[in-house]
Amino acid sequence: MSDAPALLPVEEARARILGLCTPLPPEWVPMDDALGRALAEDVLARRTLPPWDNSAMDGYAVRTADLLGPLPIRLTVGETVFAGKLPVREVVPGTCARIMTGAPLPSGADAVVMRERTRPVPEAPDTVDILEAPGPGQFIRPRGEDAREGDVLLRRGTPLGIPELGLLWAQGMASVPVPRRPRVAVLSTGDELCRVDEPPGGRIVDTNAPALALAVRRAGGVPTLLGIARDTPEAVREALARADGFDVVLTSAGVSVGDHDFVKDALEALGVAQHFWRVAIKPGKPLVVGQRGAALFLGLPGNPTSSLVTFELFVRPALRRLLGLEDVEPARVSGRLEGRLSKAPGLAHFVRVMATWRAGELWAKPLGTQTSGALRSASAATHLLHFPREHSSLTDGSHVELIPLSWVA
Ligand code: AMP
Ligand code: MG
Repeated sequence: MSDAPALLPVEEARARILGLCTPLPPEWVPMDDALGRALAEDVLARRTLPPWDNSAMDGYAVRTADLLGPLPIRLTVGETVFAGKLPVREVVPGTCARIMTGAPLPSGADAVVMRERTRPVPEAPDTVDILEAPGPGQFIRPRGEDAREGDVLLRRGTPLGIPELGLLWAQGMASVPVPRRPRVAVLSTGDELCRVDEPPGGRIVDTNAPALALAVRRAGGVPTLLGIARDTPEAVREALARADGFDVVLTSAGVSVGDHDFVKDALEALGVAQHFWRVAIKPGKPLVVGQRGAALFLGLPGNPTSSLVTFELFVRPALRRLLGLEDVEPARVSGRLEGRLSKAPGLAHFVRVMATWRAGELWAKPLGTQTSGALRSASAATHLLHFPREHSSLTDGSHVELIPLSWVA
């Protein structure tokens, strides 16, 4: 297979994978389950909120026309309006109302003076001295500031964070429409693998499947473990045949050029159309991508770090697209390299780094070992440093692009 087509650049590989993904059909879910997901439809406001002009301060609701002369000006206090109560009196000239934050503004008043800008009058407790002349509208939260009945409150594709859920709760909503969660099958392949609860007997524990399952769940998908397939074409085919009904099928290992790498052949035998194989990155080069019906097949490399890096660069964006999120590319922040890096041009390297803030900048220090097989090199990583394909060296202090990792605790 050494005459395989040129390796795809990482951005192109991601764009091609995203091109195979469209948001899944919507379902109505309770708000608690909507956090981090995207709205499947525009949501219109059913209620105008706040329902009335109300006070932004504890203080006095006044008529600004009463306060144009020399200060202080003494006003008669007509009533006290608490939040949760409706005012009963109009504020007529020469009077005001004591008012608490969130309480509806009485008619006649057109501004609020905060309590700190007033002085009690001990000899006349039903009056107050006002120490400032407010402009009209001061400290009034207008009716409809948060929402107006019939307006689009939140658009389709909006990620539902905590404030967005708050807006929907305020509308009296208890559930929302969001694309359903992607169902993701996870299969490990390799004769050398055993489950964590088996005596190893010369084998190593399958860490990829449980790690990928956690990454899937953290990205918003629902993982199902398909177990471990032995390194025979039949075993891999049989295991993959059990992956019907999933939106995404993730395999790990068996996608390189070794004699026992059967995943590509098995996919082909099951009628999965191969879209591409191999990306110009390290770690993670042998990624294979295929599709059958609407199901996306992603054959990740076997090395534990490679499988996690390819998850971050390709699988997580795909899951986010299926979840209807618009912002699916890996996040990026800029930082500085602490130390030096060199490599041959040709592959983009994603270097595991630990980044810390110093003097207003994010300094990224490459971790000791960078081999794909060593999970240890990923264990303290906070970011992946993008060492571009065409570059061969990065000097100390270079400005670099960093991808925050979703793996971190
Ligand atoms: P392969 O792509 O099959 O050549 O595997 C590459 C490397 O990853 C080998 O050293 C495997 O032992 C290791 N490996 C493959 N699958 C797993 C797994 N599920 N958990 C841990 N290590 C794995
Ligand atoms: Mg193998």
